Amino acid sequence: MSDGKIALVTGGSRGIGRDAVLRLAARGVSSIITYKSNRAEAEAVVALVEQAGARAIALRLDVGEAASFDGVVEQVRQALADLGASRFDYLVNNAGTSSSASLETITEAEMDALYAVHFKGPMFLTQKLLPLINDGGRIVNISSGLARFAMPGRIGYGPIKAAVESLTRYMAVELAPRRIAVNVVAPGPIATDFSGGMVRDNPEVNKAISATTALGRAGLPEDVGPVIAGLLSDDFGWVNAQRIEVAGGIHI
Ligand code: NAP
Repeated sequence: MSDGKIALVTGGSRGIGRDAVLRLAARGVSSIITYKSNRAEAEAVVALVEQAGARAIALRLDVGEAASFDGVVEQVRQALADLGASRFDYLVNNAGTSSSASLETITEAEMDALYAVHFKGPMFLTQKLLPLINDGGRIVNISSGLARFAMPGRIGYGPIKAAVESLTRYMAVELAPRRIAVNVVAPGPIATDFSGGMVRDNPEVNKAISATTALGRAGLPEDVGPVIAGLLSDDFGWVNAQRIEVAGGIHI
């Protein structure tokens, strides 16, 4: 158990983030979860966390809107007060959306949006939240297998996730004096709502993924959530600045 610890998980209302929040709750970690527009899903996660005996508060956040982060930090400060704390321990920069544009079709606006959501968002949200993170805390950023291997139609998304992996190492170096470890989890294709639920709902895509994955199937949120929660636990306290691919061995 991790009594009294608090996590902030962006995009904790659905998919991978939701599973991580539930795994943390099972370890006694309370969470501030963020959602972008789907409040009902977020409140459902809050209820599940409370059933598990931990506490949770849902806040609205668009990670693509860095100009809103000062206001978000004030909301986090208030949420922490409601949880009886002034700081939190674990930050998971998970929220994000997909892109299926190719080199021929991607627009400058789409690339700017990917940069804002997947790179600028985690960088500046972390910057603004730093005063609220306990020394000795931990950060997990979320990348993708597509940062290591390339596929058609992912030319905006894959490279920006590769940048998140580099950002992770820079964060680990700069936050070392505060003993904050920063790691990056790179999921393979996971059956969530992501990309219109493609991995979960498109049988052809699901079959193709299974065929290129050593363990023979596409991933599930419950394959990834425990890894994120594990990296935030004392068991992984000496793991720092590492990329952990959670993909069942895809494109080895
Ligand atoms: P998901 O099921 O679609 O859930 C996305 C979550 O992020 C939701 O909570 C959503 O909130 C929130 N969100 C979306 N856009 C946001 C924004 N602009 N600002 C703030 N919150 C936002 O996605 P997922 O599959 O769990 O993916 C989570 C992370 O894993 C992402 O960073 C993604 O790139 C990465 N990833 C996913 C896969 C995969 O195959 N699924 C593979 C590799 C990496 P609402 O519910 O309010 O919309």
